[in-house]
Amino acid sequence: MDATADKIAMLQEWVREASNGVAFTGAGISTESGIPDFRSPGGFWTRNQPIMFDDFVRSPDMRKEAWRRKFEIDATVAEARPNTGHRALAALVAANRISAIITQNIDNLHQVSGVPESRIIELHGNGGYAKCLSCARRYELDWVRGNLDADGMPPDCEACGGLIKSATISFGQPMPQAEMQRAHAAASGADLFLALGSSLVVRPAADFPVLAKQCGARLVIVNREPTPLDGLCDLVIHAEIESVMAPFLRETPG
Ligand code: NAD
Repeated sequence: MDATADKIAMLQEWVREASNGVAFTGAGISTESGIPDFRSPGGFWTRNQPIMFDDFVRSPDMRKEAWRRKFEIDATVAEARPNTGHRALAALVAANRISAIITQNIDNLHQVSGVPESRIIELHGNGGYAKCLSCARRYELDWVRGNLDADGMPPDCEACGGLIKSATISFGQPMPQAEMQRAHAAASGADLFLALGSSLVVRPAADFPVLAKQCGARLVIVNREPTPLDGLCDLVIHAEIESVMAPFLRETPG
């Protein structure tokens, strides 16, 4: 067995031993589904600096640009289907080996892979719809797009006149309190915390692996490249998520 195979075998043993496993996913779990991650070179995000929340609120031009980008990236996201990593996690949730998935992703692929909504904690929201920033009224993206195409400008809330934004959390935007509390409870109660495909530099999300470790969990990181939390880990696997997670899919067929 090579070193990576040994590590995967150890992870399998730890997953079997865990009574309260928690997964934590980042953009890297969705790259195999064709959605570019944030920091890897050459992708959508390296060509487009993120629009800060304050700029979105302050500037009509920024809102227009934010929606233009949103619909550009959505063309890719709409085609995406869950991959081995998503499906392996779904199987582990179904087998009660993993109790919650804390995700930084906004692509809805954990839901599509069959994980019940009650087990998913979306720290950065969901890109599948929009919300009024003032009254939280929900809007469907087709409606936003129709108005944008007709007027050349994004529509405001029909109920209160507030700004409508995709239901995701931008850089600089306050974190959703209920999800933060759920993630805090999940991380502090975990006995195994498995971080998959995250550079672990976006805070406060990246604080949850640290919290889990401080509260006694075994901390495992699976990522293509090193992260700043590797030194804190009980096990680090620098490999493709698919190769690490495929054995779990075979072990727990859906
Ligand atoms: P990130 O892009 O900062 O880090 C992703 C990490 O995954 C990188 O270190 C990369 O080396 C690794 N990786 C990529 N593909 C991999 C694979 N197949 N196997 C193993 N490792 C792989 O992502 P982040 O830490 O999630 O932070 C980015 C922010 O941008 C998040 O807040 C997220 O909300 C948002 N975002 C979301 C999506 C999505 O919903 N799919 C996509 C891009 C960005």
